[in-house]
Amino acid sequence: MIMNKCEICDGKTEDKLVSVTFERYGQKFVYQNIKARVCRNCGEEFLDGPTVTDIEREIRERVFEKAA
Ligand SMILES: [Zn+2]
Repeated sequence: MIMNKCEICDGKTEDKLVSVTFERYGQKFVYQNIKARVCRNCGEEFLDGPTVTDIEREIRERVFEKAA
């Protein structure tokens, strides 16, 4: 589902590449050039569900690789 409206302020969003920090398992993981929708009004960044799922899967793999 594609939404071009900010979920917070109803402003317009545009597609941008952003860097995102995920905190999982007590560690920080920084991802750059992640596709997101950014609100032109309040600056809030929204990631698509599949994008987040992919990143979380990758984080899990990185964490478990390290632990092995
Ligand atoms: Zn907004």
